[in-house]
Amino acid sequence: MARRPVTVVTGGSRGIGAAVCLRLAADGHDLALGYLHDEEAAEAVADRVRALGGRCATVRGDTSEECGVDRLFDIAGAELGTVDGLVNNAGVTGPLGRLADAATADLRRVVEVNLLGYLLCCRRAARDMAVAGGGAIVNVSSAAATLGSPGDYVHYAATKAAVDALTVGLSKELGPDGIRVNSVAPGIIETDMHAAMGDPGRPARAAAGIPLGRPGQPEEVAGAVAWLLSPDASYTTGAVLRVAGGR
Ligand code: NAP
Repeated sequence: MARRPVTVVTGGSRGIGAAVCLRLAADGHDLALGYLHDEEAAEAVADRVRALGGRCATVRGDTSEECGVDRLFDIAGAELGTVDGLVNNAGVTGPLGRLADAATADLRRVVEVNLLGYLLCCRRAARDMAVAGGGAIVNVSSAAATLGSPGDYVHYAATKAAVDALTVGLSKELGPDGIRVNSVAPGIIETDMHAAMGDPGRPARAAAGIPLGRPGQPEEVAGAVAWLLSPDASYTTGAVLRVAGGR
């Protein structure tokens, strides 16, 4: 019987990350699910992964810290085996508003989680996957990378544009090692993120400006992530796949 792929998903306890975990479990992956605060939510997703036939290790830790990232990959390797995939998904926005009004601590946190965290996870995955002889990385970016998000969070948009540059550069750097690197760039997706930035009604209000006429669901992003990790995407690397309802 073929070995089940082992995939690390950061921010797997809620929203897009949770939907990715469930989709990948249904597709036959075993999972290391990283999260920061919400142990109960992480364990609930892990139970659903196991009900779908996947093994699941839950690991609490901050992806913006090297030790948190190393612990996540160390536990994945020890409990599940060689890591084949990484879904870099854990992200934050901070409060909505103009850059002129933003607090330095909020800017620093967004850069540290959304950019440094992605770099640390990609670096560890690159090291492990090179030894293993290959793998696939999907960075969850955002349509904000090209829209710029004026008045809302240009700092967040800037980190997501940096993630897409990371995807392009790293895909070229790691191609010879058999490691594919791609981005998925969601538009407005219905998750807790909007309430966390102080505007729970944002997805519903945004619908009028989205060509498909509605916000997206986390499962619709998970499908794109699953495809990019799958053998069907074996010749796809360095791509930024927009999942934004036409926005
Ligand atoms: P969410 O519902 O707020 O969930 C965020 C997840 O990330 C949670 O599992 C959280 O863990 C985890 N997390 C946050 N900071 C972390 C850290 N420093 N270390 C480890 N885990 C951390 O977010 P979402 O809407 O699903 O967004 C997921 C990704 O999609 C993000 O990168 C976001 O930028 C991107 N995205 C979202 C949208 C959207 O409209 N929702 C659109 C475009 C792109 P705890 O629950 O334990 O705190």
